[in-house]
Amino acid sequence: MVDLKGQHDRIRDEIDAAVLEVMASGSYIQGPAVEEFELGLARYVGSRHVVSCASGTDALTAALMAAGITAGDEVITTPFTFFATAGAVVRVGAKPVFVDICEDTFNINPNLIEEKITRRTKAVIPVHLFGQCADMEPILAIAARHNLVVIEDACQALGAEYTFSDGTVRQAGTMGLLGCTSFFPTKNLGCCGDGGAVMTNDQNLAEKVRMICHHGSKEKYFHEMFGMNSRLDTVQAAVLNVKLKHFDEYISARRRAAGHYLNELAGCAGVQLPVLSEKSTHTFHQFTVKVDAGMRDSFRELLKRNGIPTTVYYPLPVHLQRCFSPEHGTGSFPCSERVCREVVSLPMHTELDDSQLQYICQTIVSSQL
Ligand SMILES: *Cc1c(COP(=O)(O)O)cnc(C)c1O
Repeated sequence: MVDLKGQHDRIRDEIDAAVLEVMASGSYIQGPAVEEFELGLARYVGSRHVVSCASGTDALTAALMAAGITAGDEVITTPFTFFATAGAVVRVGAKPVFVDICEDTFNINPNLIEEKITRRTKAVIPVHLFGQCADMEPILAIAARHNLVVIEDACQALGAEYTFSDGTVRQAGTMGLLGCTSFFPTKNLGCCGDGGAVMTNDQNLAEKVRMICHHGSKEKYFHEMFGMNSRLDTVQAAVLNVKLKHFDEYISARRRAAGHYLNELAGCAGVQLPVLSEKSTHTFHQFTVKVDAGMRDSFRELLKRNGIPTTVYYPLPVHLQRCFSPEHGTGSFPCSERVCREVVSLPMHTELDDSQLQYICQTIVSSQL
């Protein structure tokens, strides 16, 4: 599914030098590489501020806390996402309120948001799933009308660009009040461990997120609020400084692989290819196809027999997870539930070469689903 080692091998010397420099410096917590990375990422995505932290989950949690989301508040999000999106909402004491997705893009359906807004609704978390931006223009308009905070979960879509109807182009994570991303090794921009960041154009919020990630303190040992201990390791920041220089190549490599799949699988009976949004570019964090629910197991089994791994992101929507299910029955979010039965993600990473892609496509085409 991924080839992290292959990606590492191509930049091993650069990474080794950067990591060894940190190790030798003795500056392991908040060393200079951390600020360098925050500034570099801010420049890359076009956000005024980037505050790094220990994971994408912490980024979401800190963003919610900085936005003042707390017990009793409701936060609208999608049930078809990685668990952490809703987990972070619960973590700050608020209640996730789910809104079903668009079946073609897998992202939250803006047309269904307004009917879920109550007096308690404080925020919306659109998730840019699989590498493509949710439809942000209507989401931002609804949020503005109802005075809601928008926090983007851009963990899978760093580098994706969304075009507004006036022609403005903005990167994933920079359209809402706050945007969150993850540097988990398999993400578009991954480090050699856990890492995450919050992006915002609001200086006060950036300072607040930074305080929250440092035990609520600006000045050491003086605490203005409750926070957590969540920092990006200097070693990981050093790795990310190297990888950020190659980030455009990584996205191109993913798009190239996706291009192969899209060309060679076009018209392949039984396989529904991902639908490309007209408003967002796709970074292909995942290349996710749909097959008939009844055929999925045999499809995956056939690929597996031919040495091709597949994964189902995600087999169970968040609202039906055991920790939520008492509230939401099956059938509450039919699109999310249906795609959970139909989706299959094919191998997708920066190291796929033509022969591998050809082999995967030929195997699928000749499978005669
Ligand atoms: C990976 C991911 C997260 C969490 O990131 P971690 O760094 O693993 O904590 C949150 N939301 C989505 C959509 C993700 O894909």
